[in-house]
Amino acid sequence: MHRCLVLDTTGDPLAVIPRWIDALGLVITGKVTALALYERVVRSQHMTFRLPAVAMVKTYVGAARRRPLFDAPVKAVVLARDGFVCQYCGRPVSLATGTKDHVQPRSRGGADRLDNVVAACIGCNRRKADRTPAECGMHPARRPRSLTQAERIGCLMSTLRAEERRAWSEGLAALGIHLAPAA
Ligand SMILES: [Zn+2]
Repeated sequence: MHRCLVLDTTGDPLAVIPRWIDALGLVITGKVTALALYERVVRSQHMTFRLPAVAMVKTYVGAARRRPLFDAPVKAVVLARDGFVCQYCGRPVSLATGTKDHVQPRSRGGADRLDNVVAACIGCNRRKADRTPAECGMHPARRPRSLTQAERIGCLMSTLRAEERRAWSEGLAALGIHLAPAA
C-alpha cells in the first residue's frame, strides 16, 4: 500500500488518498506539494516519478469546506480520548463494558460529534437517558472535545504499515511533528 497523507497548510491531517495514482495526479497538477516520497517509482514514457507519501495543499482549506479526519465519534476513539474512564462515575470501562454518551441528547438537538460525546459505563448511560446534564444533575468530569492534531495523527499512524510509517514520519518530521514510536 502506498497511501498519501494530505495535510492542510497548518500541518493538520486533511485526507488520506488510498490510490497512489490520484495522489501523484495532485502533485503533477500542482495542487499539493510533496513533503516525503516513497522509494517506489513509476515510469511514464519520458519521466520517472517517486510516489508521494506526504503532501501539503497549497492553499488553505476553509473550515466550512473541510471535514477533518476523526471528527466522527467512533466509540474506540471516544473511550481512548477519555482514558477508558466513565466520565460520570469515574469507573474504568473497556470496549466491552463501556459506551459513548451524548452529553446533550441527540433527541434534544445534541450533535453527533466528538465535542458532544463522552465515555460512559452502561449504568450511567441508562440512568442519564434522554436528559440534559442540567435536568439530571450528571455532568461529565471532562468536557468533551475534538482530538488534538497529535491525537489525530496518532490514530492514523496506528493503521499504517511499516513502509508508510517510515515515509509519513519523515514528511511530518520535516514540519516539526514527531510521532511516538510504533506500539
Ligand atoms: Zn458510570
